[in-house]
Formats: sequence, structure tokens, C-alpha cells
Amino acid sequence: MILAFKIGFLPIRIWDLLDVLIVGYLLYQIYRLLRGNIAMNIFLGVVLLYVVYWIVEQLEMELLSWVLEKFVSVGVIIIVIIFQQEMRNFLLFLGKTTLKQRSNVIARFMDFTSQDDKLKEKESQDLSRVILRLSKSKTGALILLARDENLDGVVLQGTELNAQLSETLVETIFHKNSPLHDGAMLLRHGMISKAGCVLPLSERTDLPKKFGLRHRAAIGFSEKVDAGAIVVSEESGRITWVKDGRFQTVKEESELTKILLGHL
Ligand code: ATP
Ligand code: MG
Repeated sequence: MILAFKIGFLPIRIWDLLDVLIVGYLLYQIYRLLRGNIAMNIFLGVVLLYVVYWIVEQLEMELLSWVLEKFVSVGVIIIVIIFQQEMRNFLLFLGKTTLKQRSNVIARFMDFTSQDDKLKEKESQDLSRVILRLSKSKTGALILLARDENLDGVVLQGTELNAQLSETLVETIFHKNSPLHDGAMLLRHGMISKAGCVLPLSERTDLPKKFGLRHRAAIGFSEKVDAGAIVVSEESGRITWVKDGRFQTVKEESELTKILLGHL
């Protein structure tokens, strides 16, 4: 047995410390994932149930302990059902980071810039120029940047376009008199796939007051799909980048181009 040190009679091994740190980290990640979500209250409810069960057990209150045990014993199944979406996000997050790290390593070894990359660079610049124009003219817009993700049940309705990305087309779509300006425009691999799409709204309760349905729809989308969204506010012209349920205001054209380059 490897001893790290002793507190009184209590021997503490390195593994015990690691154990506590890992559990602490996992709990923190769960908290971050659920923060501002109604699932947080359910999670707290489940934790409370376990605490009460533990106390009742210690006090040997047999009847109550028997009743609570029935709940606790199916607790894991209940948690899996209720947190289906969150568990998916968590696993997605794990897989994504390792995949990203892996592809970064490969890219560093090979260090190539293909024709494709040059094209992507031009598309990103074009798109960021038009987004800035929409922002200046305070034209509301919602643009989804997806690749091969499964969008079933998330991106609903909308009109199929499958058109080459162009500044004029994007501006035409979001023009206030256009029949397609309401809802989201879906970009897939740099092609305008659809416009006028309806998205699920985020149920978070901690969003800024200035965020209305357009922002809520973008956040809802990013919670369900591993893809990003750009919102141009009709009220303020503010550009917001949304990914994984997080959002940030974009001020510089160069910053926007960089984001687009990474996600087109
Ligand atoms: P803004 O800052 O532009 O006002 P906002 O976040 O305050 O944005 P609203 O003012 O509520 O949002 O914007 C309404 C617009 O958002 C609608 O006209 C529509 O285009 C879009 N929108 C609303 N709900 C959805 C949805 N579920 N999916 C996609 N787009 C939506
Ligand atoms: Mg509004």
C-alpha cells in the first residue's frame, strides 16, 4: 500500500486524493451542464432523496427506509431517463475533445493547406462581411453552421434551397420583406441548405433579459446539436456566437472570420 501521509490515525493514499478530486471534478461538470436548466432541480431532488434515505437508514426507521429504498433502487434508471439529453451532451463532449485533439495532432504532423482550405477562407470572409452588413443595418438573422450532424427533430420545417453560399443570397434571405427571413438559415458544409427553419427553444432560466426568441432558438439548437449558430439582433445589431449552449458577443470582423473558418 502506498501511503502519502497520515492525518491522526487516518492513512491517506495518493489514490484516495485522486478519487476525491475526480469525483469533485465530475460533480462540477454535472453542475456546469445543468446550470440554469430545470433538470438542475430534478438533480437536486434526487440528491436530497439519497441523503434522506441515508439518514433514515442510519436511524433504523424501518418502514420509511423500506419505502424510500423502493425509489432509490430504481434511481439510476430514473436518472438515465430524465437526463437522457444531458448524458448525450456529456458523452458527445468527451468524444469530441479527444477527436479534436487527435485531428490536431495529425494536422500538425502533416501541415498541409489544401485548395479546400483556401476556398473555406474565402467563404468565411464573404460570410463575415455580409453578417457585418446585416448588423449595421439592424437586420435580424439566425445562421446555423452545421456539417454532417443529425438534425432530425431539431431543425424543423424550412424551405429547401441547396444553393451556393453568396453574400447577395444571404442578404436577400434575411431582408425584412423576404418570405424566408423568419427563422433560421442552415449552412451545411458552406452550402445554404435551407432557410426559414424552426428550432427548439432553450428552456434555460438564466439567460440575459435582452435575449428574445431568436437567441433562445439559437441556444436551444446548440444544446441539442454539436454545431454553432450566429445571431444578428434586430434590436441592437449585436452579433452573438452560440455554441454548446454558451454565447459570446462578436465585435471584430477578424474575430468573426476566425470563428466561421473553424466551423464552416
Ligand atoms: P432580436 O434581438 O433580433 O430582437 P430576440 O432574441 O429578441 O432577437 P425576437 O425579437 O423574439 O428575438 O425575434 C423573433 C424572431 O426570431 C422571429 O421573427 C423569428 O425570425 C425568430 N424566431 C423565433 N422563434 C424561433 C424559433 N423557434 N426558431 C427559429 N427562429 C425563431
Ligand atoms: Mg427582440
